[in-house]
Amino acid sequence: MIRREDFDQLIVPTYNPSSFVPVRGLGSRLWDAEGRERIDFTGGIAVNVLGHCHPQLVETLREQAATLWHVSNGFTNQPVLRLARRLVEATFAERVFFCNSGAEANEAAFKLARRIGFDRRGAECHEIIAASGSFHGRSLFTVSVGGQPAYSSGFGPAIAGIRHVPFNDLAALQATISEHTCAVVLEPIQGEGGVLPAAPGYLQAVRELCDRHGALLIFDEVQTGVGRTGELYAYQHYGVVPDLLTSAKGLGGGFPIGALLTRAELAAHFTPGTHGTTYGGNPLACAVAERVLSLVDSAEVRDGVAQRHQQFVSRLTLMAERFGVFEPPRGLGLLLGCPLRDNWKGQARSLVGAASEAGVLLLQAGPDVLRFAPSLIIEPELIDAGLQRLEQALHRATEATP
Ligand SMILES: *Cc1c(COP(=O)(O)O)cnc(C)c1O
Repeated sequence: MIRREDFDQLIVPTYNPSSFVPVRGLGSRLWDAEGRERIDFTGGIAVNVLGHCHPQLVETLREQAATLWHVSNGFTNQPVLRLARRLVEATFAERVFFCNSGAEANEAAFKLARRIGFDRRGAECHEIIAASGSFHGRSLFTVSVGGQPAYSSGFGPAIAGIRHVPFNDLAALQATISEHTCAVVLEPIQGEGGVLPAAPGYLQAVRELCDRHGALLIFDEVQTGVGRTGELYAYQHYGVVPDLLTSAKGLGGGFPIGALLTRAELAAHFTPGTHGTTYGGNPLACAVAERVLSLVDSAEVRDGVAQRHQQFVSRLTLMAERFGVFEPPRGLGLLLGCPLRDNWKGQARSLVGAASEAGVLLLQAGPDVLRFAPSLIIEPELIDAGLQRLEQALHRATEATP
């Protein structure tokens, strides 16, 4: 018998998982070992863009598993080339580097940006400017760039040459960018930082500032990518094109894969031997990701995300008024965050627990924001049913805490 308590005896305690253990998933529903069903608004943290065990992804995974799992990077393979072609056709990019996670995609982006700065303007041009509150992954380079000191402190000297400015503050960036800046990195919507969208005009102004100073613009779209905002990538929504873009999370629909997208001229600063990873571009991950993109990159899914967005926003706005626990949602598409009102601040985790007890799974984004990142194709009836359960949880919570 396997139980939640086993986690504390077996696993390095970097997480504090929910009290139940999911054993099976289908679409936007999860079941525990006792057979109890819960509606899933977490989507594996913006990963399961097509829900759990989508039949076409299962089929692709089975087919590829019976064909070719892995070859070294001493060879290329057909799935990786198909996936790269699809990404190039659907975006600004001309070249793709594959890896296994968001942190690795950002690691590649930051290394490439520094290499380009070095090649073009010398060793002094190595500074990376990032936003406070940003999240870019957990490797030492990516936590150092990330704007949440809690994640980087206590791990020895951080990577040097990184500056932080407040998000959505153009003047602060203007005062910090210089000829030493090789890149500015931003999330179009800060995900972990509380579902904070870039203000209108901010990204365009940052683009112009970067161009004026010869700095590269990196968009970390690990959370906002692969249809999450209604466009394939959020930059397409904002109409601002980056030089480097990182993708992961939704890209494999639950199978680990990450990617760095860029133009040929910039990609050329990486040459054989300068960067790499054993599993990057492996056929199994790439076959699944190609199928994910073929399903997600369609007018049907785009329109569906817009409708579902409306459905969440209207009902959550009513709930915000009715219960006084949180503000109406912010965010784009199916990446939504409800900031908690003052007297509920710090209670995101306990509210997520109460919702789970009521049969609906939510995320927090920090201690003060409830986050929703469900499957892009979640059934509208399940959205209603899940929000109904959330209402029950809020009802109980507000009765207990008048
Ligand atoms: C999740 C996330 C990452 C890190 O991705 P991993 O796959 O966990 O390494 C990086 N950037 C953003 C914006 C993310 O949301």
